[in-house]
Amino acid sequence: MKRIVLLLLVILSFSFKVSAFNFSEQTVNEVAEQYVKLVLALGQHDKHYVDAYYGPEKWQQEAVEKKIDLRKIVVSAKSLQDILALQKTEDESKALRLSYLKTQLGALASRALMLIGNVKYNFDQESKALYDTQPPHYQLSEFDATLAKLNDFLPGKGSLVERVITFRSQFTIPEDKLQKVFDAAIRACRERTKAYIQLLPNENFTLEFVKDKPWSGYNWYKGNAFSLIQVNTDLEIEISRAVDLGCHEGYPGHHTYNGLLEANLVKKNGWVEFSVYPLFSPQSLIAEGSANYGIEMAFPGDEKIKFEKELLFPLAGLSPELAEKYEKFSQLISKLNYAGNEVARLYMNKEIDQDEASLMLQKYSLMSEKKAQQRVRFIDTYGAYVINYNWGKDLVKSWVESGPDQSSLGRWKRFTKLLSSPRLPSTLN
Ligand SMILES: [Zn+2]
Repeated sequence: MKRIVLLLLVILSFSFKVSAFNFSEQTVNEVAEQYVKLVLALGQHDKHYVDAYYGPEKWQQEAVEKKIDLRKIVVSAKSLQDILALQKTEDESKALRLSYLKTQLGALASRALMLIGNVKYNFDQESKALYDTQPPHYQLSEFDATLAKLNDFLPGKGSLVERVITFRSQFTIPEDKLQKVFDAAIRACRERTKAYIQLLPNENFTLEFVKDKPWSGYNWYKGNAFSLIQVNTDLEIEISRAVDLGCHEGYPGHHTYNGLLEANLVKKNGWVEFSVYPLFSPQSLIAEGSANYGIEMAFPGDEKIKFEKELLFPLAGLSPELAEKYEKFSQLISKLNYAGNEVARLYMNKEIDQDEASLMLQKYSLMSEKKAQQRVRFIDTYGAYVINYNWGKDLVKSWVESGPDQSSLGRWKRFTKLLSSPRLPSTLN
């Protein structure tokens, strides 16, 4: 009996030592701090890399002064991953934190290697290395049936893309009505989000209209629950973009997501790694995917077109009787969504050049020449990032809609859980 007790004590003390050794909050916090500093360091070599940072200003100054070499950044990222590999925990939120940090560090090292020029990723390799996911493949011929339906839907003279452009032109928001329409749209996105998510008491944003950018809208999160939201007016803005951008950049999209991360993870948990947002990282798939799925969360079913018809069409001076046809058109055109990824894949894999990519986007995504060129410019700047919008949305949607409670309250709860925790793309499958 004595021997058994002794053996138990040995086992207990051993397992205590193992568990004490296996998870140290202090170690993880130190790694998190080093991770933030590495993201800022990489930002010195890639001006698009640091999308948001609101941690200590001193760390940002240090990054500028030290301008750490890219090779050193790779080595440091890998050694931080090695330290994390020794950490083990049964606690769900700590485990999510560990795997988040490990995966973000892996993506950071990959991005640094890309900048050094040591590795040349194709589209799928870049998706895996930077966004922790494998996007689906389509044949461009799979979009022919939808193109044929659109051809029937918009009869008349001229090529299909020309007819699409003419049809779309009826739904352009006149420039002098942009502010009013966007204000109304964002207000509605906010009200609908607020019904389910407790927004921070001091949350706020500024809306700006800008020009000459490769994107159509952007959220610059500044910390303290404040966002600068910019809308690019290089190209004409269609009526449906008001709610899309209001939800995507604002509520329950980026502004809400960043605010929840700041409140729950940075301020409450003291997880400093969330005070920085590296653009070319798995976090972006969650950010863009949830921002796009957020449109459907705030305006489920036909609520979006109803709202647009009743409020936004009149505000923009457009004919509300065209709303139903516009909705049918939008549903058809959304089926071409993944064609853009295929063009990006061919272009990034050097199977087609810039002009061919632009022509293919005009043919399969039915974009105007100017819009197609803007899209090619986007791919040049952001690479495989394009997958984060549609594939990210599909992953987030299937994760939220696989929850046990599919009432709207249940879906919003699961969606909020995603926005408030360090989940990774590979865990959404
Ligand atoms: Zn976005």
